[in-house]
Amino acid sequence: MQGERRQRGRGSRAWIACGLFVLAACGDAPDVGELDVVYATPAERLEIRAIRAGETLGGLLEAEIGFTQQQAVLMAFREQASPRRVRANTEVTLRWLGDEEELRGIDVALNPDETVRLTRSGPNWLSELVPTPVFTDTVYFAGEIDNSLWYSLVQNERLAAMPVNDRSLLVDHLDRVFQWQLDFSRQVQRGDYYRVAFERNFRPDGSMRSGHILAAEFVNVGTSFHAIWFDGNDDGKGSYYDLEGNSVRRSFLLKPLEFRRISSRFNPNRRHPVLNRIRAHRGVDYSADTGTPIMATANGVVTKRGPNGGLGNAVEIRHARGWVTRYGHLSRFARGISVGSRVAQGEVIGYVGMTGLATGPHLHYEMIVNGRHVDPLSVDIPAGEPVPSESRGVWSEQMRPRLAMLDLLPGPGLERLARSTDDGASPSPQRP
Ligand SMILES: [Zn+2]
Repeated sequence: MQGERRQRGRGSRAWIACGLFVLAACGDAPDVGELDVVYATPAERLEIRAIRAGETLGGLLEAEIGFTQQQAVLMAFREQASPRRVRANTEVTLRWLGDEEELRGIDVALNPDETVRLTRSGPNWLSELVPTPVFTDTVYFAGEIDNSLWYSLVQNERLAAMPVNDRSLLVDHLDRVFQWQLDFSRQVQRGDYYRVAFERNFRPDGSMRSGHILAAEFVNVGTSFHAIWFDGNDDGKGSYYDLEGNSVRRSFLLKPLEFRRISSRFNPNRRHPVLNRIRAHRGVDYSADTGTPIMATANGVVTKRGPNGGLGNAVEIRHARGWVTRYGHLSRFARGISVGSRVAQGEVIGYVGMTGLATGPHLHYEMIVNGRHVDPLSVDIPAGEPVPSESRGVWSEQMRPRLAMLDLLPGPGLERLARSTDDGASPSPQRP
């Protein structure tokens, strides 16, 4: 696998050497894509089959192990899941015991995070639901923008070992962190560059389960923006700050959905598309597919959840300092969201739909300040809280090594140097 990566483009060997270092820095995690480390013991021979379209789990098992054993295996499997839930392309791993050709176990990957493990015990089969193992590493990457941030990240050779889908997810992560400083879809210029340290959890097949940015720098037309993750209480509810400890966030997200088209703006004199009469549009409509997750734009408490006239299924959240947000036309509510629930900024509260008075699936979003509707696209959103004074000491202790992670990545000048050097020393990042 490493040999394969080295073959890509000799001219950029220095870059690839960095990429290899980055992914080899995982410590105890296996290299991306290696299944054997996780499942195999030396005496086992693994046979991996994928269920074909039109085939059933029962059909596959019968072909492999015969009708009698198939019945026993399915009986054990049903203790964990219905065999009918198993769809085409599901991976089924048959574990044979060495040369004896005795089947000792079967793993069925139910979904990316759960596997049904079946083990033979005399004439019977036992089953258990095991979580697909997750590994953690830190990926360091830097790059210069030629066209767009998306294009630059997807093409970044440093990330060559990461699935393309996951590389494009990094754009969402950067957009979420820098949304209040920069509009990546409009402001990014050729020659801008970024340096990022990203901690990710990934599965044995190399796909990312989750991740977050530890430190990032984005330089836009010569102006540098930093975002350093800091979790003073160590409860996972940290935030991002600039080098002075000021929040890079504001108290509200700019939008309750990942980037979507705005289909109707705040307008006191709009002709309503369903009612066909003038009726103030006191919010913003975001057109999006049914089922798109909707996020709470700020921390708060749910004050309404349910059908609400023309808004259809709606959620209302009360926030600090007299602010209220309202989300309408939902197809369904997220699990655990009820009146009185505390929600965090960015938490999914429901899903886009077209309940109530709506001609197509969209989210209707309102902001109310001290009882008065405001335009979410132009209102001046309060700044986020800086690092609290009692945490300043811990902050500066943690901020310096995080920033150092970035300083070990090449800036734009060094990138050019790395590209022109065919061999020899490359500016590899080191773990601090
Ligand atoms: Zn609307």
